[in-house]
Amino acid sequence: MRDPARAADLLDWYDRHARDLPWRVGPRARAAGIRPDPYRVWLSEIMLQQTTVPAVKPYFEAFTTRWPTVSDLAAAEDADVMAAWAGLGYYARARNLLKCARVVAAEHGGVFPQSLEGLLSLPGVGPYTAGAVAAIAFDIPATVVDGNVERVMARLHDEHTPLPQAKPILTEMAAALTPEERPGCYAQAVMDLGATICSPRNPACGLCPWRSACAAWEAGTMAELPKKAPKKRKPTRLGIAYLVRRVDGAWLLERRPDKGLLGGMLGWPGSEWGEAPEEAPPIAAEWKALNTEARHTFTHFHLRLTVKTALVPMDRPPERGEFVEAEDFDPKDLPTVMRKAYDLARSV
Ligand code: SF4
Repeated sequence: MRDPARAADLLDWYDRHARDLPWRVGPRARAAGIRPDPYRVWLSEIMLQQTTVPAVKPYFEAFTTRWPTVSDLAAAEDADVMAAWAGLGYYARARNLLKCARVVAAEHGGVFPQSLEGLLSLPGVGPYTAGAVAAIAFDIPATVVDGNVERVMARLHDEHTPLPQAKPILTEMAAALTPEERPGCYAQAVMDLGATICSPRNPACGLCPWRSACAAWEAGTMAELPKKAPKKRKPTRLGIAYLVRRVDGAWLLERRPDKGLLGGMLGWPGSEWGEAPEEAPPIAAEWKALNTEARHTFTHFHLRLTVKTALVPMDRPPERGEFVEAEDFDPKDLPTVMRKAYDLARSV
């Protein structure tokens, strides 16, 4: 059941307190008839998956400066996009980003489809992203549920079913509140409420436009919600990274296969990652192992990477990878775990 009064309270709050974000058309500009650019909305939503707003901002600025339209992005070299994405993590997103940009450019004339179904047919666009783009860019009353919205809904309704089991219940609650009027502003307003007021710890209930309707506030259970099923402990995998420098300063790098973790990214040649990785040196050399490890946590496991370094002469051919001249090498093009190994090797 729609509840226009509750949505109106939130929209009223949003009109006064909306966050100023580089991909956003704020409520005043929106009221003046300025429409959000679907490309910028889509790009920001892909970047924001599993990533925070402060981490995304510089990447968003860099991408939109370099590739101002979806057709510009579609025409970019894969390696340039992967390098520009380096450090943002979850690299499958970057590969799907390119695929999607190319489909929009080639099959839709560079214009994003203006329906939920059309958006859902694009590569890498799931129900959440399709809903967010439909609502924010095209004012379609789609239900948009991210972690912020789940938290707000669980508290508003004092819902104690643990996540992820609670997802469909919370989605239904969110759908029931989504208004026909200004659904794009509404979607952003709930996200803002979750990000700035109904925060995970110490929600600022005194400033909340929904306090009088909030069941968790009434019951004093805000801090316990949303409930989450206990997390499984992440296993630890071990690996070896080989950092090889040629005497002229060139680095030996290897592009990872497209499929799998860090797929398509440039990195140090290395062993498999597992319980007892076997040595897999990419070139004949005298190796020195650093006495500290590069450590990194991925979604499903922790990685402890032994870093081995070597200096090789000009005429030594590698068995894997390619030498990249010193002036063409920028550690910022590496994914975070590879950059950690580089930083360790540079610090000894
Ligand atoms: S009153 Fe508090 S717990 Fe309830 S929605 Fe507002 S900020 Fe969240």
